[in-house]
Amino acid sequence: MTTTTARGERLARARKELEARGLDALLLGPSADLRYLTGHQAPPLERLTLLVLPAVGEARLVVPALEAPLARDHLGDLDLEVAAWQETDDPVALVRATLEAAGAADGRLGVGDQLWSTFLLRLQAALPAAGFVAASTVTRQLRMRKDPGEVEALARVAAAIDRVVDGLEGLRWAGRTELEVAGDIQAAIRDGHDEACFAIVGSGRNGASPHHVATGRVIRPGDAVVVDIGGRLDGYCSDTTRTLVVGEPPPGFLELYAVLHQAQLAGCAAVAPGVPAEAVDAACRQVIAAAGHGEHFIHRTGHGIGLEEHEHPYLVAGNREPLEPGMAFSVEPGIYLPGRFGARIEDIVVCTDQGGRRLNTTSRDLRVVDG
Ligand code: ZN
Ligand code: ZN
Ligand code: ZN
Repeated sequence: MTTTTARGERLARARKELEARGLDALLLGPSADLRYLTGHQAPPLERLTLLVLPAVGEARLVVPALEAPLARDHLGDLDLEVAAWQETDDPVALVRATLEAAGAADGRLGVGDQLWSTFLLRLQAALPAAGFVAASTVTRQLRMRKDPGEVEALARVAAAIDRVVDGLEGLRWAGRTELEVAGDIQAAIRDGHDEACFAIVGSGRNGASPHHVATGRVIRPGDAVVVDIGGRLDGYCSDTTRTLVVGEPPPGFLELYAVLHQAQLAGCAAVAPGVPAEAVDAACRQVIAAAGHGEHFIHRTGHGIGLEEHEHPYLVAGNREPLEPGMAFSVEPGIYLPGRFGARIEDIVVCTDQGGRRLNTTSRDLRVVDG
């Protein structure tokens, strides 16, 4: 659990970032940003919850009265005023008053990336002189570099998902549907996590769809199966992919998998402080393109991970942002042959002074299960 002191420091750093970027306040609804800065895990509902954090001046957490006890519980002794609004009050007026007191009502406001448009529209109507930008321009600067406690939380949740991966070979595959297998996997995830977030089981031709959702397709001998799974523990996310074959691999699959394995190793090896994020993508892509599969690698190499499954930094061509110690992200190249099969290998890697530290440590060799 993040201490009150750590959250107090994060709030202070957020104010500094606001000033440095010429913003006057942050407006954050229920989100990972809000949790990161205050510890409040607000339910995303139709009543407005909003952290109003001016660069200078009094901050307030505006919450519906019935959720004030929950908010106070989550904040602990964090020095932040909870401003509760009753059912018949106008919470937007409360937000405006807080901004006016800080002299920020006509300023540039960083609004939470996931704040519902129904709230943003009301805020825009109530603050006609204000300008709105995405809050992530500020919060990504704080959240991208994980502190040691966060890296440990990511390592713990990675170990939890690795135990699920270790159990994959013990499941029954042939003759069962993707949904049945995904159900077993989700139960195994819940065993070591607080929550199972997703279980992609893409068998046969379904494996060629990277974000496939498990279906009633019956898994057969000769299928390759992409298994991409994740959950959440103490707020932090896991996300790992392994590919299996049921019995004899389909023709051409072993060659393709060998290329993918090399590509994923090259990506992990490219991780080091100062290296542009896009260079990790290029390291994977080069190996795959050299083998003639360039057009079958249809997504970026990776995404940051933390309180959210997908967050900054993104490992994608064009992102020249240098990697820094503490950044955590997936390295997950894939090769997808439409109508036939797909394969992907995914590990979470943390950038350290010494290079990449892989948090998922299960074997990347092809797993063969009974056909
Ligand atoms: Zn994805
Ligand atoms: Zn994944
Ligand atoms: Zn991922």
